[in-house]
Amino acid sequence: MAYQVLARKWRPQRFSEVVGQEHITRTLQNAILQSRVGHAYLFVGPRGIGKTTTARIFAKALNCLQGIVPEPCGECTNCREIAQGASLDVIEIDGASHNKVEHVRDIRDNVQYTPAHSRFKIYLIDEVHMLTPAAWNALLKTLEEPPPHVKFLFATTEAHKVLPTIVSRCQRFDFKGIPVPLIVACLRQIAVQEGIHVDEGALSAIARAADGGMRDAQSIFDQIIAFCGGLAEAERIREQDVIEVFGLASAGELRTLTVGLLSNDLNAAIEVIQNLADRGRDLERLFADLVAYVRNLMVCTVCRDPGRILELTESDLQETLALARSVDPALIQRLVQGLVAEEWSFRSALNKRLYLEATLARVMLEAHSVQLNDIIAQLLALQAAGQLPALPAPVRVAPVLPPAAPVLAAPVLAAHNPPPPVPPSTPPTVAVTAVLPPPVAVPPPVAVPPPVAVPPPPVTPALPSETPAVTSAPPPELRQYRDGYPAAVAAVAAAAEPPPEVDQEDADYPADPPAVAALQVAEAPPPPPAAAAAAVAPAAEADPARLFQALLSELEQHATGAALVPLCKRLRPVSIIGSVFQVAYDPEELAADEIRRVQAPETMKVVRECFARVAPTPESAIVVKRWIASVSGDQRGVRRRPSSEERTRVENLPFVREVCAAVGGQVVDVRVQGPEPRRGER
Ligand SMILES: [Zn+2]
Repeated sequence: MAYQVLARKWRPQRFSEVVGQEHITRTLQNAILQSRVGHAYLFVGPRGIGKTTTARIFAKALNCLQGIVPEPCGECTNCREIAQGASLDVIEIDGASHNKVEHVRDIRDNVQYTPAHSRFKIYLIDEVHMLTPAAWNALLKTLEEPPPHVKFLFATTEAHKVLPTIVSRCQRFDFKGIPVPLIVACLRQIAVQEGIHVDEGALSAIARAADGGMRDAQSIFDQIIAFCGGLAEAERIREQDVIEVFGLASAGELRTLTVGLLSNDLNAAIEVIQNLADRGRDLERLFADLVAYVRNLMVCTVCRDPGRILELTESDLQETLALARSVDPALIQRLVQGLVAEEWSFRSALNKRLYLEATLARVMLEAHSVQLNDIIAQLLALQAAGQLPALPAPVRVAPVLPPAAPVLAAPVLAAHNPPPPVPPSTPPTVAVTAVLPPPVAVPPPVAVPPPVAVPPPPVTPALPSETPAVTSAPPPELRQYRDGYPAAVAAVAAAAEPPPEVDQEDADYPADPPAVAALQVAEAPPPPPAAAAAAVAPAAEADPARLFQALLSELEQHATGAALVPLCKRLRPVSIIGSVFQVAYDPEELAADEIRRVQAPETMKVVRECFARVAPTPESAIVVKRWIASVSGDQRGVRRRPSSEERTRVENLPFVREVCAAVGGQVVDVRVQGPEPRRGER
């Protein structure tokens, strides 16, 4: 009789014999018990884990002469024919070679005919992802509503290639890789039945090499039996045999390598690699095994019940647990992270051996280096024991900043800005204002010191005065910590946040361009100083809304102005600053042609004419501007892009340059606050 390979000879014939797929077999059996059998099933999963086998058993259960049973008898004609692939009513099709639309048309034409001598006509299509879209479309209608005597069972290794319209018409079952202990148990059973002498370690190695596939495991076992014999005690199959044949690393070698990593013994690790490479071992496989081994250690250190998670035999589990208990869990985690990060690059490395050695050296160096957390813990312990002087008071830190950033900004400012000539009660941030003088003697075009970079995080205003320590250079560890945060440039923006005093500058120049900056003054709470108050006082008493109403009535009586009233009613009175009455239009409320009409010279001529009649003083002027939402809600006022001169000025400010140099950053954006500089002032 012809030899039948183990994979075929020991193919499961009943649901109870299918290994590692209980979630699927139970569902199918329950569907049969509850008479809820669907008409199309899709079995998904890697090769050799029981998709086709389960489909055949399911077909037997449906067509068994004993009735539709949760477990086929395996004895009747139908069961035997299906097992031999000889049933007329169970049509097995290889989707890879029968993927054309003509093949599917054959199926479609034949489904109409009732089964020859069974309950159901069952189509079992393997590698179903190979079917062309045209073939699928030809089947779509049949698949949606097949005749009651037809069942479809599809199997595929690549479910993502199956059209969603097909998947949605099927019940999908995902097969899992089979755990190592289950494969070992199955192989052991086969060995007993076949009278093969084999070591447990050899079965374990076969199961690892099979990577979760039962058919692969059985094929490897077949091959090893052919290599060793195994039929007598003298020909016993040992782990070493499997390792020799398949180029694997033994569990002992993996363990030695891992212990080398854990004990920072690069010499031991390189010797293991040398040994394996000399015997032509697959180093890619070794790396994968090593990652898996260290991962098992990690699971042992963090999980309450590692045996439930790890695919290990009992003896391997005990060994792994013992090793895991002897080392620092944090070290294992650092090793796993280091190795996993290299997995992808390792696959593409040209010189695997060199890459492996270099990688292990680097990963070990990083994993075993002194960790900052450990130093802090030791310092705290020393301090608690009274062996360290008290640490300086902790620096108050704004929540959104990297912790080191405020500390950084403050010393830089202190070092490079001479004590500013401001009253002692002034907030410390004024020190920044002092380094932003107006460019020339003319009224400053930039009303407010320009902040650098966005977004400006909130800063604790009292920071420098509360922390005298920060005036000295930051300690080295802070410097190192800070280097990780080039974004600390944001601190400059925070430090350069406009102080309230600048409003006075606006007040000093009441005739300044109409201005969005003027708007800000109207809303900013601080009262102007006495000298400026006199100039502003009369205007401040005026009510923009009342003045606007007066203007509208005047327009209604004007010959050409009356037509403008509906449009003008949609403007907003904003403020009266000095002699300037500001009115704004909202670009979101007005259409483009309406905005053009508002801005038209003839419109403005009429408006000015009418305004002159209601203006509080002869010098009063009216200005119509675009409404900027941030003016009303945002206390910081309007920010705009600077001119190139303004930008250069900001970038060359000593403290900005110093901060950039200190954090290794650069100015990425500049915003200035205040009106555009007038022509000739730049
Ligand atoms: Zn049967």
